[in-house]
Amino acid sequence: MSVEETEVVVVGGGQAGIAMSEHLGAHGIPHVVLERRRVAERWRSERWDSLVANGPVWHDRFPGLEFTDRDPEDFASKEEVADYLAAYAEKVGAPIRCGVEVTSVRKHVGRRGFRVRTSDGDFDARYVVAATGPFQKPVIPPIIPAESGLLQIHSSAYRNPAQLPEGGVLVVGSGSSGVQIAEELRAAGRGVHLSVGPHDRPPRRYRGHDFVWWLGVLGKWEASAPPQGAEHVTIAVSGAHGGRTVDFRNLAERGITLVGRTESYSSGILRFAPDLRENVDRGDENYLALLDEADAYVDRNGLDLPEEPQARVLGEYPESVTDPVLELDLAAAGITTVLWATGFTADYGWLQVDAFDEDGRPRHQRGVSSEPGVYFMGLPWQSRRGSSFIWGAWHDARYIADQISIQCRYMEHNDSHQRPFRPTPEVITP
Ligand SMILES: Cc1cc2nc3c(=O)[nH]c(=O)nc-3n(C[C@H](O)[C@H](O)[C@H](O)COP(=O)(O)OP(=O)(O)OC[C@H]3O[C@@H](n4cnc5c(N)ncnc54)[C@H](O)[C@@H]3O)c2cc1C
Repeated sequence: MSVEETEVVVVGGGQAGIAMSEHLGAHGIPHVVLERRRVAERWRSERWDSLVANGPVWHDRFPGLEFTDRDPEDFASKEEVADYLAAYAEKVGAPIRCGVEVTSVRKHVGRRGFRVRTSDGDFDARYVVAATGPFQKPVIPPIIPAESGLLQIHSSAYRNPAQLPEGGVLVVGSGSSGVQIAEELRAAGRGVHLSVGPHDRPPRRYRGHDFVWWLGVLGKWEASAPPQGAEHVTIAVSGAHGGRTVDFRNLAERGITLVGRTESYSSGILRFAPDLRENVDRGDENYLALLDEADAYVDRNGLDLPEEPQARVLGEYPESVTDPVLELDLAAAGITTVLWATGFTADYGWLQVDAFDEDGRPRHQRGVSSEPGVYFMGLPWQSRRGSSFIWGAWHDARYIADQISIQCRYMEHNDSHQRPFRPTPEVITP
């Protein structure tokens, strides 16, 4: 079978692959983007039906295209986000080939570049960019055995309440997915327990601005690493219902029973860590700290923004926090489903190069891997907090395209100096 040659193969046609293509194109670097399914597939088929973007449309987008027919403060639906990304790919003329799965990438032995094997033939490429997403493989902690009789489902497979069997649901995870799904299930009349771990919960809006604006002006999207000790802290935000602050007291008021971190299971009994109050308190601290920083920013810069003292009123702890459930008989509580909103891990089994640490994590600096010629895109915290978000991927892609362009020039220089070997002339002493 013939082998197609190109300078760069980009693997993955999500926002990271599209942004990568735009910047490679701007450098005039020949490339192809290989996507195993459709452009922005994960937004179409790996998110629940009612999901809207977590950030308003003025913010969660690429710099070069606005969402049309939308108020800037609106939150786009997942289909609108996917359509937007597809339109963007078309606008920048991204050479995306859909329905092509990359099955392996290996370094050529003794010569430059990589052999990229796909479901549709082989490629030889000088450079490879892995843009297969920050959230690839659903993680379900091995707590409840499969034979428990419960339906166990990951948030990436959840679509809507009607999909789940009759009965109550335990949602595990208090990040954006967990809280939004718990709220939706409760609104559909389900009995819901929500297992709450450590989380940040910024105010949706404060003093007239969305939290994405505050994180921007306060430089927090640009943070290069999570604060120490907060590496596994998830962020609870929601654009649902026009965007509301995630407030665990309010979720409890609406009939959701809060519990601590899910720890262990035996004979139908689930046990929770006694950390619910601590997790809620830390979330409150994070919330109030952002209000403080926002106020200080307003004062220092003399901004004319309306004061909002009521944002600091948190209200009473709900009973589920003051008298927490530490053990739950799932059958007695009527729970038939455990929904794990517990995040994702990476799966780079196809990328067989020296770019991973002993735990299989990408070894890289700002996406430039330890294997010369291999780059990552869209990793969480790739260069900054914003890296896995739509606009963040765009900025990282610009950097990676620059790096590839620099390497191309080094190689051009090398190629232009490939002359036949000439011995050093003899030194003639006078
Ligand atoms: C529930 C949820 C809500 C989110 N909401 C927002 C939000 O509101 N705003 C925001 O900015 N970000 C949001 N994000 C974060 C982020 O924007 C998305 O995860 C986004 O999908 C990441 O884009 P990506 O291009 O890096 O990866 P992906 O969208 O995962 O794209 C990777 C692509 O690679 C393809 N692929 C994988 N393996 C192969 C292979 N071997 N060969 C060929 N193709 C392959 C996949 O099919 C996929 O299309 C959200 C994430 C989640 C999970």
